[in-house]
Amino acid sequence: MKAEQSYPRLDPRLTAAVEPTPVMNPQWIAFNDELAEQLAIPAAQRASDDGLQIFSGNQVPDWAQPHALAYAGHQFANYVPQLGDGRAVLLTEVIGNDGRRYDIQLKGSGRTPYSRGGDGRSPIGPVLREYLLSEAMHRLGVPTTRALAAVATSELVQREEALPGAILTRVAASHLRVGTAQYVLAFKERDLLKKFADYVIDRHYPHCANAEDPYLALLEAVIDRQAQLIAQWMSLGFIHGVMNTDNMTLSGETIDYGPCAFMEAYDPATVFSFIDRRGRYAYQNQPGIGVWNLARFAETLLPLIKVGADDTDDAKGAIKQATAAIEQFQQIYEGYYWQRMTAKIGLPGADAKVLTQDYLELMQQQQVDFTLAFRLLGDSDPKRLADLFENSQAWQDWHQRWQQAITAEHASMSSAQTKLNRINPAYIPRNHLVEAAIEEAVQEGSLALFNQLNEVLRTPFVEQDNAGDFFQPATPEQAVPRTFC
Ligand code: AMP
Ligand code: MG
Ligand code: MG
Repeated sequence: MKAEQSYPRLDPRLTAAVEPTPVMNPQWIAFNDELAEQLAIPAAQRASDDGLQIFSGNQVPDWAQPHALAYAGHQFANYVPQLGDGRAVLLTEVIGNDGRRYDIQLKGSGRTPYSRGGDGRSPIGPVLREYLLSEAMHRLGVPTTRALAAVATSELVQREEALPGAILTRVAASHLRVGTAQYVLAFKERDLLKKFADYVIDRHYPHCANAEDPYLALLEAVIDRQAQLIAQWMSLGFIHGVMNTDNMTLSGETIDYGPCAFMEAYDPATVFSFIDRRGRYAYQNQPGIGVWNLARFAETLLPLIKVGADDTDDAKGAIKQATAAIEQFQQIYEGYYWQRMTAKIGLPGADAKVLTQDYLELMQQQQVDFTLAFRLLGDSDPKRLADLFENSQAWQDWHQRWQQAITAEHASMSSAQTKLNRINPAYIPRNHLVEAAIEEAVQEGSLALFNQLNEVLRTPFVEQDNAGDFFQPATPEQAVPRTFC
């Protein structure tokens, strides 16, 4: 295992050395062997007794030097100067078998200097949710943090009620956030800021180092990654739920699976999070919030961005450059969004955009499941698709137009459908199923549904026998339209 820390060496004010707090009686929930292999975790420290001690925080292995990371952030548009890992520690960075650098982090491992009033712990529900959703997102092809391990602590965590506690081991390209840059900016030290920005470039965007203005290039690179990421979320109906600047990575990975969920019936105004009362982070607002967050990132880089040749005022010149980059977001995002959305109906080009838009409208009018409306375009039995739509005439009109376009574009319907089934998943972690898995674990101590769901979501593009319950959207009785964690 090639473990080596780099970030805690950058500046002592950005991290705090802290050990995880031991727990009474750790028990395995899940271990991700494939990911452990990729990270070259020693075989004896995987799903073993030794592993259990490590991934519960009871034992610090020789390869770890635990640190909590400081960051700031805008939470629901309000700036909070001091957030940070309040219930997490970075165990180490490691160079994986693929040559890439990863963070290994325990989440729910006890108090840190950044805990504020919190207990540093996590109930089992959010741990199971993050495990399921982050691994499902990975299988769906979305850049995301991943889950290496989940351990039950056998201790109670006091929330509105007392809940069983758990610890997640999360793996990320890094835990650098827009909020980390905001935290660094607040020191008002240009040297520190430059050191930080150079670190981000070196770790995630090495090509920017050779640009004429590396920091403007960094801003543009992060804008591009986030535009791609959010377009991908939108194409799958994923709603993050808490797009605060501290929950947006600089690497472009999805992070912090809190009150997130996947939309079922297509409605752009969909919100799951109970605390998001005004719908700031609704499905349709995600690109707009993305660019708002990126503007906060741009602000942190202003002291480093070079001025244009005809600018006499340094500050104004940098603002002009950064603003121009931010203004590019919408166009870049829309490019990625339409590329993905038209691919979901198997057609390229401008005509496909109109056809896709019309299909979305039809879904919205008839409250049709977003995932299945696309998935069943690839089904050899057209009746399965037709059955989703109540007003069959409107659907038939659209379907005829679509069939004509497909025939013009593809060798055959069946070859088009084979391609479609690699783009449109059969399975997503539907919220009622995730909630049922959590409920079963909390109430009955059973991981049966959690394990089943995890297994089905490993191959989301392949329809599986005996997984019918996972394919269908929630019935009105099953629906769980709110998330609380
Ligand atoms: P989140 O809403 O999970 O993005 O967290 C926002 C901030 O609150 C982060 O700084 C977390 O570390 C902190 N936090 C959340 N829950 C706890 C907890 N139980 N104990 C300590 N800090 C917490
Ligand atoms: Mg320190
Ligand atoms: Mg967070």
